[in-house]
Amino acid sequence: MNKRWTIGKIKEFVEKNSESKLLTTEYHGFSQKLLFKCACGSNFEKTFTKFKNNNQRKCDVCQPPKASR
Ligand SMILES: [Zn+2]
Repeated sequence: MNKRWTIGKIKEFVEKNSESKLLTTEYHGFSQKLLFKCACGSNFEKTFTKFKNNNQRKCDVCQPPKASR
């Protein structure tokens, strides 16, 4: 649970597991919002936790947020 993520590992994860690209170049912690570039060309911000654990790997246009339930 206490896995250490570095910006390099996150970038690798993003490239392997999504069509988005990571634009942020520094990682300060799980609560930080990272800037991604979606395959459609839009930029979007999301924490890595949401990106990874909630499968929110595209911008809000390509993948509209689900109503929470
Ligand atoms: Zn998109």
